[in-house]
This record gives sequence, structure tokens and C-alpha cells, in this order.
Amino acid sequence: MKVYKFGGASIKDYKSIIRLSKIIRKENHGDMILIVSAMGKTTNLIEELVLSYIKSFKNLADKFELVKSFHFDIIKNLFKKNNSPIIKIVKSVFDEIDEFLKKNKENDYNLIYDQLVSYGEILSSIIISKYLDYIGLKSKWIDARSCIITDEYYRDANVDFEKTSKSIKRKIKDKGLYVSQGFIGSNKKSFTTTLGREGSDYSAAIFAYALKAESVTIWKDVRGVLNADPRYFNKTKLLNKISYEEAIELAFYGASVIHPKTLQPLKKKKIPLFVKSFLSPSKGGTIISKKDNKVKNIPSHIVKWNRVLLKISSKDFSFIVEKKVSLIFSMLSKYKMKVELIQNSAISFSVVLNNKYKKLDELLYELRENFKVSVDKKVSIFTIRHFNRNTLKHIKKLNQMVLLEQRTHETLQLVLSKNFREENLFGFFER
Ligand code: ADP
Ligand code: ASP
Ligand code: MG
Repeated sequence: MKVYKFGGASIKDYKSIIRLSKIIRKENHGDMILIVSAMGKTTNLIEELVLSYIKSFKNLADKFELVKSFHFDIIKNLFKKNNSPIIKIVKSVFDEIDEFLKKNKENDYNLIYDQLVSYGEILSSIIISKYLDYIGLKSKWIDARSCIITDEYYRDANVDFEKTSKSIKRKIKDKGLYVSQGFIGSNKKSFTTTLGREGSDYSAAIFAYALKAESVTIWKDVRGVLNADPRYFNKTKLLNKISYEEAIELAFYGASVIHPKTLQPLKKKKIPLFVKSFLSPSKGGTIISKKDNKVKNIPSHIVKWNRVLLKISSKDFSFIVEKKVSLIFSMLSKYKMKVELIQNSAISFSVVLNNKYKKLDELLYELRENFKVSVDKKVSIFTIRHFNRNTLKHIKKLNQMVLLEQRTHETLQLVLSKNFREENLFGFFER
């Protein structure tokens, strides 16, 4: 069994879905599962719809209409003949959304978000599965909500691997071509959950883990894993062979081409991960497996934008040691903060956070009851793996913006002030 994952960019319009079908046709699709994301920017669009809904329905109908027309346009272009059966199915999905919007009694924003945003993947997988049937590639649609079992941590749910493996194996017993959704699962209360933005890569790894797949391929709009994000850096290099460990580090530091949770399940079952371009499917791309190929000679550059830096110290200048560190972490966990970097000195404790759940003000209020806290918003973390003398020379230019620096023998991390912009990175390799 091979697992192929197609992200939003690879299915952004009807032409890209036709391209997907050509890739599938060329391969041995008799034993394959496709995991698909929502089409194009649908998730962002539904996020806006959720906000409208929360803010007393402001522009709700317009947002809903945008989601509908985007999908119906694709359907009309894909299914030239006899498109009424697929239109009927997709209309029934929109009716379901409509019913939720009218009848929902829940107040938790995160729960509501997951119930609605997940429809992006439901829609794309139905359309793709039906289109494959339409062109003679018979496929079976699988509902990932009955496969991926999670806890109730909405918008970043944790997977119960034991239950999930069992239910996936129950659903997928025979060889065939299957289509399911990335990003989504469900919990024991039967609510839909999501695995975190860009979580479809992770879903592909979960299915692969359960089915002991021979490989996973994630199809991207780039050549493979590069030594930097080509949106911000030019003259990037392809990392053609990397180890699981190296890929885990790169993804953890923010190389957003792979969702950070993807690698662990694959590593456990020694399943190779290919990262390939859907624009040039015959090219090799990157293979992630046990061994790497001299990646340590190539510095990789990774930026995480829009983070929050807190510098925490005792009100009486006493040391920040075990008890106080433990108190700080319990508050970070209470307010669902994602901790991305920590540094401590005798009397202060610095931490860089991703304020995903927008609870910074509440956290600060509670922290300030016990500590002195200074806050820098909109900071960035610039990480360089396998830095060398040359990179050290280049980053000197950023000196004035550095708020914090951390260095191990393999990795250099700079926390940069809000003045640090994309422009500071262009041509970084050339200078
Ligand atoms: P998907 O279509 O699966 O959602 P993403 O947009 O999440 O794909 O990932 C592909 C994007 O990741 C690329 O367009 C690129 O801008 C970005 N990216 C960030 N870091 C890297 C990297 N190290 N190598 C390649 N691409 C990267
Ligand atoms: N559709 C979701 C997102 O845009 C999940 C994914 O694409 O991986 O975040
Ligand atoms: Mg994506």
C-alpha cells in the first residue's frame, strides 16, 4: 500500500485535479490511498465564515456563498457530462453545514471551528473520489472522522494511535484505490476534531502507520525539501536525502514544507517519506529515511514569524528555579501556549510563544500576579541548522535586531525584533 498526500496547492482548481488524476493513472493505483486537503485556500475561507458566525452572523451568507461557488465551479469544469449526481451530493454537504449554523448550541469557538473547517476536506475528497470514478479510476471514499480517533483538544487534537490503527485496519482491508481526508478526525463525543493547520501530512503518516504502508509521498509545489523556504530565500538547494532525525529537527524548527508531527510515526515503522513536486512528478525530490546524504554540509535556514517573547523575572530578584519554573509552565499549559524556545539565566526566564489560541492577555494577567514580565510582540525566530563561518558572517547584519541568541553545535537560533522583515532575507545566500 502506498499513501499519496495532495495538499491544497496541488488541488487548487479543476486543472490541478486533472493533473492529480494523471499522476495516479501512471502509478500502481490498485493499492493506494490518497489523503487530500481542502482545495486551494478553502480552509482560510471557512475560517472567515466561522468568524462571521461567531460575530453574530456578519456577512455570513456572503462567505458561505463564496465557499459554495468555488466548489461548484470546479465541479462544472471537471464533470462536463452528467454532473447532477455529484452536484446532489455536494449540495447535501452544504445542507449539513447550513443545519449546523442554524441549530448549533455549543459556545466553544475551538469546537465550532473544527465542526465547520473540516468540511473543506470533506468536500475536496468527495469531488476527487467522484472525479476518479468519472474517468474510470474506481475509488472508495473513506470518512477519516471514523478512522482517526482523538482527544477533545480542538484545533490541535492528539491522536489515540491504538484506537486509530484498529479503526483504519477495519475500514481498509483489501487492496484498492481509496480516497480520504487529511487534517480531520473525531473524538468520543462524536464531534469532529482537527489536527492543527497544515495537518494533512500528519494524517497521511497516521494512515501509513496503521497500514504499514510501503511509502508515503507528499506532493508539493516545490522540488522537495530545500535548505530554506523559496518564498523568502533565493538560490535554495534541494536536500535530496535526509534522515528521519534531521527532518524532525527541520520540521520542528519550522520548515513548514512538512507538518512537524509527520515524521515520528513513519520513523517508528521505518516507512520512507518522499517529498515531490506535482509540477514535475518524474523528478526525484527528497527521500526521508534512515540515512542522510551529507546534509550537515548544507546550512538550512528557517524562519517563524509573529511570535511573542516573554522575559519573566521574580519581583524580589530571587532566582528563577524549579518551583517558579514549574509555576510558569503550568500557566503556559493552562492558556494553551505553544512554547518554541526557552532560555534561562539566574534571575530571568525567557520564553518564545506561539499565541495560537489568543490567550496572551489572560496569561499575562496571571503571570504578573507573581512575576515581573516584559513582552515583545511580533518577534521572529530565525534558525540556522548546520551553520558555518559564512553564515555567521552573514547574520552579523541582523545584529541590531537580535533580542536573544541560542547556540548548540549544530543549530543557531536568533530571536529577532519586530523590525526584522522578509526583505532582510532576500539574497541572503548571495551576500
Ligand atoms: P501543501 O500544499 O501540502 O499545503 P505547503 O504549502 O504546506 O503545502 O508546503 C509547501 C510550501 O512550503 C512551499 O510552497 C514553500 O514555500 C514552503 N516551505 C517552507 N520551508 C520549506 C523548505 N525548507 N523546503 C521547501 N519548501 C518550504
Ligand atoms: N486544510 C488544512 C489547512 O489548510 C490542512 C492542510 O491543508 O494540511 O491547514
Ligand atoms: Mg496546506
